[in-house]
Amino acid sequence: MTDHVLGIDYGGSSTKLLLAAAGVREAAPVAQTRVPTPRGAGALEELAAHVETFVAGRSVRGAAVTVAGIVDDRGVVVTSSNLPWLAGLAIGDVLRARLGFPVVPVHDGRAAARAEAVLGAGRGHEDTYVVALGTGVGSAHVVRGVVEPGAHNAAGEIGHISQDEHGRLCSCRQRGCLETFIGGAHLARRWREVVTAEGCASPDELAALTAQDLVAAARAGHPGAAAIVDEATAALARGLLGMLATVDPGRVVVGGGLGQAPDVILEPTVAQLRARATFHQIPPIVPATLGPWAGAWGAALTADELATAPLP
Ligand SMILES: [Zn+2]
Repeated sequence: MTDHVLGIDYGGSSTKLLLAAAGVREAAPVAQTRVPTPRGAGALEELAAHVETFVAGRSVRGAAVTVAGIVDDRGVVVTSSNLPWLAGLAIGDVLRARLGFPVVPVHDGRAAARAEAVLGAGRGHEDTYVVALGTGVGSAHVVRGVVEPGAHNAAGEIGHISQDEHGRLCSCRQRGCLETFIGGAHLARRWREVVTAEGCASPDELAALTAQDLVAAARAGHPGAAAIVDEATAALARGLLGMLATVDPGRVVVGGGLGQAPDVILEPTVAQLRARATFHQIPPIVPATLGPWAGAWGAALTADELATAPLP
């Protein structure tokens, strides 16, 4: 019977389950599904029940589960901003007790970055820097399949490098961070301001606007949207130029929700980066390929590594 590994991407609104044949070498799932994210006190019981239904009858050697937040050395969730009910729980141990196979927690952003580097747009390349443009902006440097988390588990916060000390206030309490230029939450807010000034949208329509709406408007030639996007891509170009000077990666992969809009975001960013570069070595800068499943693939890779590791 084929052995499998399971990747669980425990997201804020939906949770993805992905089953792959053990010895993962390519992004070819055996099965995958999404369930509404289990919430509250009974969340892990509910998650385990979803997993049992999903893997029914298949041999699973191990699993990993992504957690957006801080997990201590014992596998206990210290804080998670979008999964607050997990605080204080040894999530892997609880799931293992119910499911009967090993389950370990893994950092969500690093899992997704590793998957892109190993199975996605970085596949076949040893040295890849992955930038995720989502609600916030994160990154990870992946070398030969390994993400270095930093001495304090805090590496990769490219979104919180300030470019303007008099700029907009960031969630990190600094001003003018890269994230205030190109983070999805900031872009949505700025697009809302433009649409509000035009005076043609209802309060409900305004509240529903997202960064993707801004991208669509820029693509359609709206001058206000184009101005915001120009500012955003210039900031991303400056941020990437600083990263190239510091890290000198062999390849850069740009993912996250805004990474799905290469014509509006990635191509102008690369053009601006080339215009600004002097001594920098500019490697290929390419869009991510795993899309929203990158986190689940990263968890599957972690599960695979644990399942195939020699016993101590
Ligand atoms: Zn910041």
